[in-house]
Amino acid sequence: MRLVDLKTTFLGEVDVPAAHRDAINAARRTTFHSLAPLAALHSLLNALVLTFAFWGHAGMPLVFVWCYTSAVLIFIRMREARRPAGQLDPKVEDGRIVRYTLLSGALWSGMIAVLIASGGAEHALLLGIFTAVMLCVGALLHSSFPIASLGYSLMITAGAGLGMMLGGHSWSFNALLLLAAGVIALQRFAAASHVSDIRRRLATAAMQDAKDTAALLLQDFEAHSSDWVWRIDAHGRLGSPSQRFVDASGLSCHELEGGSFLALFVPESLHHLQELLRHRRPFRDEALRVRIGSREVWWSLSGQPAADGGWRGVCSDITRSRDAEARIAYVTEYDALTDLPNRAVLVRQLEIAEEAGRASDESFALFVIDLDNFKALNDTQGHPVGDAYLRVVAGRLRDCVGQTAFLARLGGDEFAVLHRDMRADEAGGVAELIVDALLAPVTLNGKEILAGGSVGVAMAPENGSDPAILMKNAELALYRAKAQGRGCARFFEPGMEENARVRADLETDLRTALASEAMDVYFQPLVNTRTRKVSGYETLLRWNRPGHGLVSPAVFISCAEETGIIVPLGEWVIRKAIEEAAQWRDDVTVAVNLSAAQMHNPSLVATVVGALAASQLDPSRLEIEIVESVLMDETEHNIRTLHALRQLGVKIALDDFGTGYSSLSYLRAFPFDKIKIDQRFVRDIDTSVENQAIVRAVISLARDLGMRVTAEGVENEQQAAILAGLGCTEVQGFLYSRPIPASEVEKVEADKRPAPSILKLRRKA
Ligand code: C2E
Ligand code: MG
Ligand code: MG
Repeated sequence: MRLVDLKTTFLGEVDVPAAHRDAINAARRTTFHSLAPLAALHSLLNALVLTFAFWGHAGMPLVFVWCYTSAVLIFIRMREARRPAGQLDPKVEDGRIVRYTLLSGALWSGMIAVLIASGGAEHALLLGIFTAVMLCVGALLHSSFPIASLGYSLMITAGAGLGMMLGGHSWSFNALLLLAAGVIALQRFAAASHVSDIRRRLATAAMQDAKDTAALLLQDFEAHSSDWVWRIDAHGRLGSPSQRFVDASGLSCHELEGGSFLALFVPESLHHLQELLRHRRPFRDEALRVRIGSREVWWSLSGQPAADGGWRGVCSDITRSRDAEARIAYVTEYDALTDLPNRAVLVRQLEIAEEAGRASDESFALFVIDLDNFKALNDTQGHPVGDAYLRVVAGRLRDCVGQTAFLARLGGDEFAVLHRDMRADEAGGVAELIVDALLAPVTLNGKEILAGGSVGVAMAPENGSDPAILMKNAELALYRAKAQGRGCARFFEPGMEENARVRADLETDLRTALASEAMDVYFQPLVNTRTRKVSGYETLLRWNRPGHGLVSPAVFISCAEETGIIVPLGEWVIRKAIEEAAQWRDDVTVAVNLSAAQMHNPSLVATVVGALAASQLDPSRLEIEIVESVLMDETEHNIRTLHALRQLGVKIALDDFGTGYSSLSYLRAFPFDKIKIDQRFVRDIDTSVENQAIVRAVISLARDLGMRVTAEGVENEQQAAILAGLGCTEVQGFLYSRPIPASEVEKVEADKRPAPSILKLRRKA
């Protein structure tokens, strides 16, 4: 065994880090002093027992002296024990402890030697027990100073050995052997107990260090972050909460401490956390709802099971980021203007409906709704009015489809409704309700707005179950509704796909034609019934579409209107017509047809002014033809535009009169220069008394209002004669000429021939 090991084994020497040395030595001294009363009691007992046993014996006076000396020693020890710690220099104090112990050992050793040497056989047992107890108690009482303990034990043993030798007892050697073995064992025990005591103290000190460090770190953590620490015991009760925790919880420290941790949270959000706590599984970033007064906030919790059966962790308030997330989610899923879900959410709902439909044979209906004149409303009334109108529409749709239907805004002026568990006949009823709801006028800023809407309906699973297909089919049905006059609803039919393709081709070709100026303007003469001379020409667009031949505007104008192509196309027509007219006689007018979509174009007036100026054409030779629908929507704006044109000197004609609704009221809405009676009244004028009556009434009304009247679609002399008889000032139709290209007009105008010759010319052609 090495010396170091021996020192450890018998003297309890341990390496103590310098940082802890003083504290541990002080603790040793305290332990030593704390046993002083026990040592005093033991000495007193010893004194009593020995006095009693040796009463009247020759050794009695000696016992007495020992007792007094010991009493003095005990007094000294008790006084030392009461001395406040740190009063003496530690080294001096340690020296005193060792010296005291050795002195005490020396005293007892001497007495034991004398008593054993002089004591008879009757005291042998008592003295044996006495010595053994002295050794045991000595080892116990002095174990915090193993060197002192060793000195003390050796002295007692030496005393006993000396006494036995002097007494000449036959068992001396054996007894001494036993005592020596006992001393070794006891010293080993004292040293071991000392070592374990120091190690325990070192461990405690290390733990305290760690705790202090952790506390410092936590303090720092709480001071520099928005998070806070929480700790609960095995019963889920909160331990001393930090100030930040108190602030965050809205409760007082008193209310928090010892209270249930879980009770802080909204019960519905707790389920997962309870599971984790039950299984003692560490967790991170558990989001939980907390009610603080009337407010609800979100906390994120991380936790680690603690050795005491409780939990430790950190917590942070994530309400802001949750709110931000919720806002982002809302923005990505909801339309901010109407608060309706958007297309993405609708698609998800369609998927859910499709799945449910597959499982239960449920059929459902998808309605796609498009406002008819929203773009114009936006352009003319401004975006705030457009937005307000959209909100009104969203409200109306919600009222009309009810809470069970899923309503979404697809963007712009397009909405969609998904009705689960609905048959086609029921869907028809709902579609009509939607159309009616949108038809009712809306009053905004004191103005009445009439926009209306068209509806396309697709039924699942008949028209497809896949959301994308269903959407496409509903849009095709909507397309049909738009094409068939708007303000109505149409169901999807298989042929619509082909129509859509045809239309898409038409649109593409139309754009190409516009870009490459592959269109042409034709002119149809208007003949004065009195002079029988050409008084003007109406400009009619012609398109020689590759692969299709000459296509009538009746086919492509609606497509141009819906796609917005009409705006640049119309401007081109205006410029072209004015350019041509500038070559003609001064008393010949040129008429140009304008669509409603062109009226919304803010640069219309500027285009007309520019074209007139460029060609030096007198504005009074230009006639703008509009149809009644132009006055039906955006009345105010369109009337303002018409007035602006009229102020330039341009004439305004009401085309296709009699084909719209409440025609007569439009005659009062704007002071037209001319009315063009639609060809449907002219067609049967020679056979239909009613048509004759209508035409007569219109002519007389126009005369009263100071307007001229042109009859369109005159195909035979009879019709021309009747119309002239009724007072019609101007006629137009195949009887006189079909629409002709500009080059032919120039020839006709050069001839300056009267109208009938034109008729013959064209009939031959
Ligand atoms: P609209 O303005 O009423 O033009 C008269 C239409 O009647 C022309 O058809 C013309 O060819 C046709 N027509 C003339 N006389 C007779 C006749 O005796 N019998 C019959 N059956 N038809 C006759 P078109 O050229 O096919 O034009 C159709 C419509 O397309 C026009 O009706 C007009 O509303 C529109 N349109 C034509 N060109 C333009 C244009 O440049 N811009 C705009 N916005 N619309 C145009
Ligand atoms: Mg016309
Ligand atoms: Mg017409």
